[in-house]
Amino acid sequence: MRLKEIYSLLIINAMLLLASMPVSAQDLLARQAPIDRRMRAVDTLALKAVIEKESLENPAAQLYEDWDNRYAHKQTELPDSFRISLKHFCMPTTSRVITSKMGPRWGRTHKGLDIKVYIGDTIRAAFSGKVRIKKYEARGYGKYLVIRHPNGLETIYGHMSDWLVDENETVKVGQPIGLGGNTGRSTGSHLHFETRLCGVALNPALLFDFVNQDVTADYYTFRKSDYEQESVAINNTIHLDGASESEETAEEKQEIAESEVRQYTETRYHKVSAGETLYSIAKRRGVTVEQLCKLNHLTRDIKVRPGQILRYS
Ligand SMILES: [Zn+2]
Repeated sequence: MRLKEIYSLLIINAMLLLASMPVSAQDLLARQAPIDRRMRAVDTLALKAVIEKESLENPAAQLYEDWDNRYAHKQTELPDSFRISLKHFCMPTTSRVITSKMGPRWGRTHKGLDIKVYIGDTIRAAFSGKVRIKKYEARGYGKYLVIRHPNGLETIYGHMSDWLVDENETVKVGQPIGLGGNTGRSTGSHLHFETRLCGVALNPALLFDFVNQDVTADYYTFRKSDYEQESVAINNTIHLDGASESEETAEEKQEIAESEVRQYTETRYHKVSAGETLYSIAKRRGVTVEQLCKLNHLTRDIKVRPGQILRYS
């Protein structure tokens, strides 16, 4: 019996010990946990800052082998497909007025969008990045900037009256980078805005919706095959239009002078809204479902999703 008593006593003691221990241990753990979390958060933030700094110093290093300050748009090797993140953007200007779209114009291709701005209007960086080129071209883009961004894009801002940043400077999204103007080959103050990937011009309207002051989606997927098909289409149109080059130069001057909104044969796009179907879009745009399917490599039974960009001409 004596042994049994000792045994029970031991058990009671052990239980008491267990009961008291976990309280303080738990307490310590409870106090430690937020510190660990905070440390982890600090680590993550520090790491994030390092990564961000690196990606701004060498933006999109996976796409571009070199960094030069000479050529605004030298074509480099294109990826077969590349997803461009449009998150964390800023509209380069608050203006909603497009005065000229991308496409064939006067026997050449207009490689960007013209947006109405006034002299002195603030022009902002569309994404964070690093200024690759700051140059003045009297017979071209006037005072312009080329900024390379970690998402792979390069954005070009032309005809500005002044620059607010320097070459090789890293810039934050939304940072004022220049002032609206009318420098270079331009009549009437406006911003010439281009979006390029590996030197080739993508239609900025596929990425930025100036009228609604928004991006078209969180991501835009570039496909080399689509791009090449469109280039052929654009070049064919230019070939047809460019028959009388000399006349067009005179006409060109006149046209720049008098017109703000210009119409020409072009590739047109439709951004799908909620509730729309291939049928309703075709009806709205005055084309057939077959044409829509063919232009976008779709089958008739596909369900379009809101925000999707469809070509309709
Ligand atoms: Zn332009």
